[in-house]
This record gives sequence, C-alpha cells and structure tokens, in this order.
Amino acid sequence: MDQIECVVIGAGVVGLAIARALAARRREVIVLEAAEAIGTSTSSRNSEVIHAGLYYPRGSLKATLCVRGREMLYEYCASRNVTHARCGKLLVATAANQIPQLEAIRARGKENGVFDLTRISGSEALALEPALECVAAVYSPQTGIVDSHQLMLALQGDAERDGAVIALKSPVESIDALGSGFTVRTGGGAPIDIRAACVINSAGLYATKLARRIRGLDARHVPPFYLARGNYFSVSGRVPFSRLIYPMPNDAGLGVHLTLDLGGQARFGPDVEWIDAVDYDVDPRRADSFYAQIRTYWPGLPDGALQPAYAGIRPKLSGPGEPAADFMIQGAASHGVRGLVNLFGIESPGLTASLAIAQRVCEMASFD
Ligand SMILES: Cc1cc2nc3c(=O)[nH]c(=O)nc-3n(C[C@H](O)[C@H](O)[C@H](O)COP(=O)(O)OP(=O)(O)OC[C@H]3O[C@@H](n4cnc5c(N)ncnc54)[C@H](O)[C@@H]3O)c2cc1C
Repeated sequence: MDQIECVVIGAGVVGLAIARALAARRREVIVLEAAEAIGTSTSSRNSEVIHAGLYYPRGSLKATLCVRGREMLYEYCASRNVTHARCGKLLVATAANQIPQLEAIRARGKENGVFDLTRISGSEALALEPALECVAAVYSPQTGIVDSHQLMLALQGDAERDGAVIALKSPVESIDALGSGFTVRTGGGAPIDIRAACVINSAGLYATKLARRIRGLDARHVPPFYLARGNYFSVSGRVPFSRLIYPMPNDAGLGVHLTLDLGGQARFGPDVEWIDAVDYDVDPRRADSFYAQIRTYWPGLPDGALQPAYAGIRPKLSGPGEPAADFMIQGAASHGVRGLVNLFGIESPGLTASLAIAQRVCEMASFD
C-alpha cells in the first residue's frame, strides 16, 4: 500500500491552491482528481471575477477570505504572469427605491475592509459608461478578472516543482478514518489504496457526498447540500462597456451581471436555477428573462443578441429562500477526526479566495 503525508481530493482551483501551499511547506502531497484534467468542474464554469469583497456579512469566512485572497491573488498573478486585469466594476441602482440597498452594500464593503468604494450619481456613471442606464452607482476599482485556467496551471506548476503529484482519473471512492491516519481508496482504471496522515476533501460539488462515505466521521457533521445552476448567455461582437456592470443582488445571487473576459468578450449571468442533479445544459428559453433583467441597465441590448453560452453549478449549503450560507471549512476542532479537513459550500467568491483558503487549510491541517 502506498503511503504519503497528505492527500488532497480534487484538482479545482481550491485543491490546487491547497496542494501548492502544502508542498511549499515541504509536505508530501498527492492530489487525487476524478476527471481527466485539472479544473474541469466549477473552476472553469464561473465568471472569472476577482471580487473586492462587498456582499458578505462582516467577519464571515467569505468576507475575510475574499478580501485577503483578492490581494494574494493580484500579487500571485503579477508574479507568475497569469493574465488578469483590474478593470473595476460598477454596482448600479436602476430605480430610486434601490438606493438604500446600494448604500447598504457600500457600507458592508467598508465593514469588510474595502475602503476605496466611491458612490457616484447616475450622470457620473453615464460619463464612465455611456450605454448604461442607472440612477446611482458604486464604483469598485479593486474588482477585476483573471484567466482561471492560466491560474490553475500556475498553481499546478508550483505544486509539482515543490514535489506534489497530481494524479488524474483517480476518483476517490472511500475513506477509512477508523484507525490512526486514513486509508483512501480510489476507483477508476487503476484502483489503489493510499495510507495518509492528512486528508483534505476539496471535491467541490461532491464534497458532501464524499464526506458521508468517510468511515469514522459522524454524519451529523456533514451539512445539507443543494445545487443551484448559474446559466450564462453571450453576445456576439463587442459590447459598449469596459467595466463590469452589476445590478442589485437578489434573493439567491448577485443578479444577472455583465462580465468581460480578457479578450473583451461579454457574457451575462449567472442566474439562479435550483436543480436536483449535476447537468450543465443551458435552456435557451431562459433568454427572455435575461433580456428583461439586462435591459434594466442596458436598454440598448439589441433583440436577438443573446446566445446560450455555458453554465456552472454552485455547491450551496442553503436552499431556496434561506439566507446565504458561509463557506464551511471543518477541521478536527469541529468534527473530531484528526488530520481531516472538509471544505463544503465553496461557491463564489471561492476563486478569488482560493489562495487565502489554502493558507487557512494549511493552518488547520495536522500530519501526525
Ligand atoms: C456560476 C458560478 C459563477 C462563479 N463566479 C465566480 C467569480 O466570478 N469569482 C469567484 O471568486 N468565484 C466564482 N465562483 C466560485 C468559484 O468558481 C468556486 O468557488 C471555485 O471554482 C471552487 O473550486 P473548487 O476547487 O472548490 O471546486 P471544483 O472546481 O468543483 O473542483 C473540485 C474537483 O474535485 C473533483 N472531484 C469531485 N469528486 C471527486 C472524487 N470523489 N475523487 C477525486 N476528485 C473528485 C472534481 O472533478 C473537480 O475537479 C462561481 C461559481 C459558480 C458556480
């Protein structure tokens, strides 16, 4: 049986960031990834926005890890030549009755340590983005975009340079935590058993399912879990915007916003669609609701411009109508299993926060 200090399950952006951080601390690491390549799940199906940290309750993991992770990410991208842009974002109120919500988000951002938000009038916003319609806005200069695949390749490169091994096509099927340490069993073409002192469950959409299969972990430590698909529509050709445009958030999400990729192409989304099973098909009929939502801030969106693009799925810990849940990062202090760290509900801003999440996991992990 193979023996290693630490197994990380999942080679999304978070698992790779954790592997990099552990390897940099001279830990022996293997990353077990079910798919044929790194980052094929949520980490390549998102908006690629580097969030400033406006929306999350003060003191929450989402707030603290987003704000810290954003700075770490900008530094990392600059040092490793990962393509990114600090393009800025306008959060817009499109009717007078939304101004209190706009103000509340600005105040929350300030509580979270985002001090450079500027409140501007509708006409000032129009001077920045002439195609925009709004009555007031908050400008966030720290918001940006990143090439998430380049980021993951850089993380993988660092981790491997420091000795980590990334094993693809290695789905973890079971984990036994009954003795001292763990036995991790993989399926796939070449099943193996690995002995490890430390297991990090960073399996994204499958992290709760996998945690329920850990022998020795009390199931009451595994939270309820919901899937919320976020659909995107793209626009052919250029749009007349150079910054990201976000409407007011609604019950479950940040609202159908405009993001730009690093080639300047626009995409709109994600909306929120509660689903029962992982399925990435975008229903073209959702376009009607996209047109209506986008035209509240971009009335010039031409008929027929939107094309179904792609979807990502949020691993949610709160269901429809419930208040948004925080990230859940559980170590032995919460569940009593020494050496095990479970990451649940790593939805947005998980990409922004990935390096800070990795730092936190390293602080929680134990290896003996
Ligand atoms: C629609 C949408 C938009 C978003 N937009 C943003 C944004 O703009 N900015 C931002 O900061 N965040 C955003 N996020 C959040 C961000 O994308 C995620 O937080 C992040 O990608 C999560 O990374 P991860 O590594 O935890 O999960 P994943 O990328 O899902 O990786 C988990 C990996 O585990 C593997 N796996 C699963 N089960 C097993 C198993 N049994 N054995 C081995 N491997 C397994 C999977 O194959 C997968 O590769 C968005 C999310 C969504 C859904």
